[in-house]
Amino acid sequence: MQGEQHHQELDVILIGAGIMSATLGVLLKELNPRLTISIFESLAEVAAESSNAWNNAGTGHAALCELNYTPERADGSIDISKALAINEDFEISKQLWAYFVERGFIEKPGAFIHQVPHVSFVSGEKDVAFLRKRFAALGGHHLFAGMEYSEDRDELEEWMPLIVTKAGRHHPRGCHAHGHRHGRGLRSVDPFAHLTSQEPAGRLPPPPPEGHRCAA
Ligand SMILES: Cc1cc2nc3c(=O)[nH]c(=O)nc-3n(C[C@H](O)[C@H](O)[C@H](O)COP(=O)(O)OP(=O)(O)OC[C@H]3O[C@@H](n4cnc5c(N)ncnc54)[C@H](O)[C@@H]3O)c2cc1C
Repeated sequence: MQGEQHHQELDVILIGAGIMSATLGVLLKELNPRLTISIFESLAEVAAESSNAWNNAGTGHAALCELNYTPERADGSIDISKALAINEDFEISKQLWAYFVERGFIEKPGAFIHQVPHVSFVSGEKDVAFLRKRFAALGGHHLFAGMEYSEDRDELEEWMPLIVTKAGRHHPRGCHAHGHRHGRGLRSVDPFAHLTSQEPAGRLPPPPPEGHRCAA
């Protein structure tokens, strides 16, 4: 850190107050509660960049909506291996967050992560055929249980009233929806609150003047 005020020796310096520093800081403290950790953030508040729910899609990368995770093979079949691996990773993340809740590091789980329905929507014969096959391949797997598929206009309008309008009905449209468990980004900063309450120091120094970036 450049500057006079931080000349204390620290065990760990984390640059950037996003979800990565929050998670790593908490894990390090779990492994060694005596570690001194300082987190440096150039903005006035924590989790204001990618980790902020308004700055990312917040699907938790559970591979529900990311159509590129289920590529079409040369023979026309759908390869779901990447989607399964990513969904499994997300399940493991949830175990970690559940542990954080159990340990009291996240006081308001509902503000940190909650379930929202997700919808994949495509139009055009080719893409609808792809989505139909994707649904057939994923829908049979327990990780994607509960996924629904529809090409019914009325149902699609019910699912997405702002997207599917009465206009353009001549285009084939397909859609699958899935109510699943998704991260919505770091709305709450509970892991930081936990860290900053620790002794010895897990601290967030006051933010530097706007535009200034801290350096380790
Ligand atoms: C548009 C978009 C959509 C996304 N959609 C999803 C999604 O659907 N699902 C999903 O799981 N992930 C998604 N992600 C990815 C996810 O948001 C990021 O992987 C995650 O938030 C990264 O966390 P982080 O802590 O590494 O970074 P950040 O949250 O960006 O935190 C980094 C922090 O470091 C600070 N900083 C940078 N340089 C310095 C410096 N020199 N000194 C001090 N501070 C510094 C920044 O101000 C910032 O606060 C998306 C990302 C984007 C941008």
